[in-house]
Amino acid sequence: MTLAGTEKELSVYESMAARFDVAATKLGLDEGFLKYLRAPNREIIVHIPIGLDSGKLEVFVGYRVQHSIARGPCKGGVRFAPNVTLDEIRGLAAEMTWKCAVVNIPFGGAKGGVICDPSKLSLSELERITRRYTAEILDYIGPERDVPAPDMNTNEQVMAWMMDTYSMHMRHTVNACVTGKPIDLGGSQGRREATGRGVMIVCDEALARFGWNRPDTRVIVQGFGNVGSQAARLMHESGYKLVGVSDVQGGVFNARGLNIPALLDHVEEHRSVVGFPGGEPISNEEILEQPCEILVPAAIESVINSSNASRVRAKVLAEGANSPTTPPADDILFERGVFVIPDILANAGGVTVSYFEWVQDRQGYFWPEADVNERLKHIMVSAFHDVVQYGEKHGVNNRIAAYMLAIDRVMFTLKLRGIYA
Ligand code: NAD
Repeated sequence: MTLAGTEKELSVYESMAARFDVAATKLGLDEGFLKYLRAPNREIIVHIPIGLDSGKLEVFVGYRVQHSIARGPCKGGVRFAPNVTLDEIRGLAAEMTWKCAVVNIPFGGAKGGVICDPSKLSLSELERITRRYTAEILDYIGPERDVPAPDMNTNEQVMAWMMDTYSMHMRHTVNACVTGKPIDLGGSQGRREATGRGVMIVCDEALARFGWNRPDTRVIVQGFGNVGSQAARLMHESGYKLVGVSDVQGGVFNARGLNIPALLDHVEEHRSVVGFPGGEPISNEEILEQPCEILVPAAIESVINSSNASRVRAKVLAEGANSPTTPPADDILFERGVFVIPDILANAGGVTVSYFEWVQDRQGYFWPEADVNERLKHIMVSAFHDVVQYGEKHGVNNRIAAYMLAIDRVMFTLKLRGIYA
């Protein structure tokens, strides 16, 4: 199915639904189950009254969308941003169901958000929003129900406030109710670098598939935040040749290879990769079109679209970000033979270590970082081969294969459970 020409109209939910429909049709999914899995189980909208520092009362809108509990409790982040919409949260919640199923961890998908601009709020206003949002959705979350995590503009501190609010209502400490917590409150070793590490692990598998060696494998990373900087650091340490990186302000490129430790020091000091003396300046648009073996988009959505997909010269696209490629661009990349490692596989290292955090909290027994990394590797390597083999068996690209595999796994549990009525 070709989706070219439709990307301008596709919202986050519609993008997910377009890919879901292609995969579900290939699987021959019954129309009733198609309707069932396309829609979320539950959508919660809350209005959060907050007394601002100025004394004014403001009301913020918050969402929590739970897409599926077929395979276990829901799992997914909470974002704070002025442009959060229910449609976006709905699409991201479904993506979480497919992501958890691709890596075969026992969770369904959820996502949450509050419409607010954290840059205009004081720390205590943010704390009040977090606590009241948590209280409003309290009946629907918890270790057995739905386990939130950090996302855009939320962090370990926000998770600590959520955990405390939940625990105060339960009258005892429940650290398994959220993940991405500070280590001292039950967070996991290795969580901060988990998504970047997962990106490297799937790149290692692609490397072996193509018979490349690391020193000759040129890597470009767009986005130098949590995912991009950790992926670049770990890949550099393991011997890959990082030739380009960028952040929101611009990028740097050096065909002979960038000195990543020196670049990390530069970012520490200047808050951006721009101005790094060990490379030439390059724009965010140009960096995506440079020759390389592996391109890792790790910034924002839709950066690879029908206007530039034909100029992407990477042989492997490892999607660190969520939805960096639009459905029409998928078709172009596939036709050009680019090996795409789709977001629901490539960036699943984060939710996998979140799963480990939840397991450790429930065990009350915490693992050393080496054990976390080893178990992450085992899961990511298995998922990579599951997706690639599924694609080869069914004659579809890796993105559709990942969706088909995920839908297949969710359907299997749904059929075992039956429909309660
Ligand atoms: P972050 O905020 O830490 O970093 C984002 C980076 O992208 C920053 O370097 C920023 O400067 C850059 N950026 C922003 N806008 C840009 C633009 N227009 N062009 C180029 N660069 C731009 O975020 P993160 O946690 O690293 O997440 C990045 C992506 O990965 C998001 O799509 C996120 O949903 C996804 N993701 C993150 C995790 C995780 O564990 N953090 C897990 C799965 C998926």
